[in-house]
Amino acid sequence: MSAFLPAPSRRGARAVARALPVLAIGVAVAIPVAASAGSSYKPNTSVGHAPGHARNVIMFLGDGMGDSEITVARNYAVGAAGRLPGLDAFHNQGEYTTFAVREDAPASPDYVTDSAASGTGWATGRKTSNGRISTTAGTDRDLPTILEIAKAAGMRTGDVSTAELTDATPAVLASHVSARGCQGPADMAACPQDAKQNGGPGSIAEQEVDHNVDVLLGGGQGRFTQLNTGGKYTGQSVVAQAQAKGYQYVTTAADLAATKAGPFKKVLGLFSAGNMDLELTGPAAVPYPGNPAARCTTNAARTATAPHLADMTTKALDLLSTKRGPGFFLQVEGASIDKQDHAANVCGQIGETLAFDEAIQAGLAYQATHPDTLVVVTADHGHTSQIVEAQTDTDHSPGDIVTVTTADGQPMIVNYATNLHGRSQSHTGTEVRIVASGPQSDRVMGTTDQTDLFRTFRAALGL
Ligand SMILES: [Zn+2]
Repeated sequence: MSAFLPAPSRRGARAVARALPVLAIGVAVAIPVAASAGSSYKPNTSVGHAPGHARNVIMFLGDGMGDSEITVARNYAVGAAGRLPGLDAFHNQGEYTTFAVREDAPASPDYVTDSAASGTGWATGRKTSNGRISTTAGTDRDLPTILEIAKAAGMRTGDVSTAELTDATPAVLASHVSARGCQGPADMAACPQDAKQNGGPGSIAEQEVDHNVDVLLGGGQGRFTQLNTGGKYTGQSVVAQAQAKGYQYVTTAADLAATKAGPFKKVLGLFSAGNMDLELTGPAAVPYPGNPAARCTTNAARTATAPHLADMTTKALDLLSTKRGPGFFLQVEGASIDKQDHAANVCGQIGETLAFDEAIQAGLAYQATHPDTLVVVTADHGHTSQIVEAQTDTDHSPGDIVTVTTADGQPMIVNYATNLHGRSQSHTGTEVRIVASGPQSDRVMGTTDQTDLFRTFRAALGL
């Protein structure tokens, strides 16, 4: 993430140099959109009406990435008047509502969604209750997902996340369980009816492998090394199950880079025991008066052998891309934007947002040479962080605040006050941004709902 860490004093020189946006992590230069004229890729492939058929879909999901999270990262990395080269590169933009429904009353809204219910919404076109993975509220019926529909049509599929691969967002595409916690074979207490020994489809990890998703990249070794407790692979780990089903299993960036793009072979890449390490670290949010303004720093504790999100995105595109025949559906999640918002960790949150931006740039670079690709960037729900005014003894947040120095050289105070100090901060019920480019991207414009995105995918792919 050094890409977005230049000291403010270096920024002027970079702007004058009009450096091109280079896509490799650690090399990319954050530049305003105005400065991208003459760069090697054209991020805006569509403005307004965007007819045609998409052969491929790349969906980028920033978990918990509301407008506030984007603005925090933009101010920090490129300044208030700057524009992020990935997130801010789109013209076709809308907002969508994100609410879930109540488990005990599925016709009634639950105003604040989690990633499981919102993910079920965009993955299946149907609302459900918080905690459910592509199953119906109240009745626990499986809902067909866009990944399953794409797979049935012969398309290749990929699911990438910085969280455990069994976390809610990657899970909604390739599994059906009644409770999001049922991630590995040993985690089935909350959904015994889904366990294989009880005639169910198994844990999320088992189902992702059984779905034969062509490319699975993220964290979560701790789920996949659990032993199957039912079915054909009883007593074997989910990794062994995957290998028996033809997956190449890799655990480092170097091994991932060495996987070959054809003749095609499925890839399971798990790069950490749990969620993948954070890109940036910095001062903690605390009650008033808070901290002296500071810049974030590279997280020295990050596992050096793990790929960055942009690396995983580029490799997934390399593995999934074909010259003819059906295309692919790829989901890429920046998961820890949400997790660090929960933790009131502003630098963690910023680093994950910027890593997500670099992944989007990789997707746009692919689209530049494959214009029959629909790229969508959105979030699943809003979150707690807010940029607030200067705090005083008489007027200040009752919650936690943290001050970072932005690329403008100015202090930015970020407030976390949707829960008590030291407790997990809360999601919020706001609508969130959705942007897109490529065929049918005008469908995201206006005010839509997260379930409409499922129909946009189907329309674009002709499924
Ligand atoms: Zn969350």
